Amino acid sequence: MPPSILLTSCVPSSVLTRLKTVGQVELATDHLTPAALQERVSGKRALVCVTTDRIDSAVINAGCDLEIIANIAVGYDNIDLAAATGQGISVTNTPGVLTEAVAELTWGMILSVTRRMVEGDRLIRQKAWKGWALDFMLGMELSGKQLGIIGPGRIGRAVAARAPAFGMEVVFASRSRETVVASEKPLVPLDELLVTSDIVSLHVPLKPETRHLINRQTLARMKRSAYLINTARGPVVDEEALNWALDERLIAGVALDVFEREPEVHPGLLQRSNVVLVPHLGSATHETRVAMADLAARNVEAVLQGRPPLTPVVQADTKP
Ligand code: NAP
Repeated sequence: MPPSILLTSCVPSSVLTRLKTVGQVELATDHLTPAALQERVSGKRALVCVTTDRIDSAVINAGCDLEIIANIAVGYDNIDLAAATGQGISVTNTPGVLTEAVAELTWGMILSVTRRMVEGDRLIRQKAWKGWALDFMLGMELSGKQLGIIGPGRIGRAVAARAPAFGMEVVFASRSRETVVASEKPLVPLDELLVTSDIVSLHVPLKPETRHLINRQTLARMKRSAYLINTARGPVVDEEALNWALDERLIAGVALDVFEREPEVHPGLLQRSNVVLVPHLGSATHETRVAMADLAARNVEAVLQGRPPLTPVVQADTKP
């Protein structure tokens, strides 16, 4: 009897073909509620899921035959890791293959918000543009400014690598020195980064200690002329506090790819011209999504064939 695999999203045909050589694939075409996930995971030996699937302890208990949970994402905050590890289930993610895509989107968002591109697009479509003027829709130039990167991991460093092209200086803030050893960029305390940076870009994983890392206190430390960019995870920013900070004009603007309660967005943010909203597109390129799905499938293949997974969520990733 071939092992059965539950797949919660459509994947490219090449990836589906790979999975079908490993086992019997059951594809859930609609988004699965937690109850439906519990029902469908029963009897499966592998679960291939995405960041919007909540793989909590109830799902893991229902999937008592699971050998692997392969998340098609680099973050794994949607999975109860302790419950999975307790059941001896391998949990894998897809690090590395999406780094460039997220870094590119981050720069798109930096440019969009500082040069008011989305705001300008809306103005033209509303037929409200009266023509060129010397003082019209001025933004902030990047050249000579400081980019503060919180979380100098794969994506944070890829964003930093593009900064010289825009004439920007980079500083990093991290909870440890390990991830910046190979970098020549200065590592500064978080507060110093907030106080001195013109752009603050978030690249930390969502963990208990990074939830609401950006809150009323940290927002109040930023320059009034500074911009905040979030392509990490929504709950890293307290959206209520962000809305307050924008009301108080404590920062100049914000660009968000991720939100606290996706797909909902804080209503206050929707009204503002200095807020750029992107519907969680960080890794959304053809190339990257194929690579992510393929890596997840290769992890399933390895584990179901008795080999170690290629990209397990390792203990070092889960350190408190
Ligand atoms: P990574 O290589 O593991 O980098 C994470 C970085 O965050 C590391 O430098 C880590 O350094 C740092 N960090 C962890 N906890 C921290 C804390 N409390 N304070 C400050 N820094 C902290 O991960 P990655 O591949 O760059 O991905 C980063 C995150 O991007 C993912 O976890 C995911 O949530 C998000 N992401 C979003 C999208 C999207 O579609 N928008 C796509 C992919 C990824 P230390 O451990 O040394 O502190």
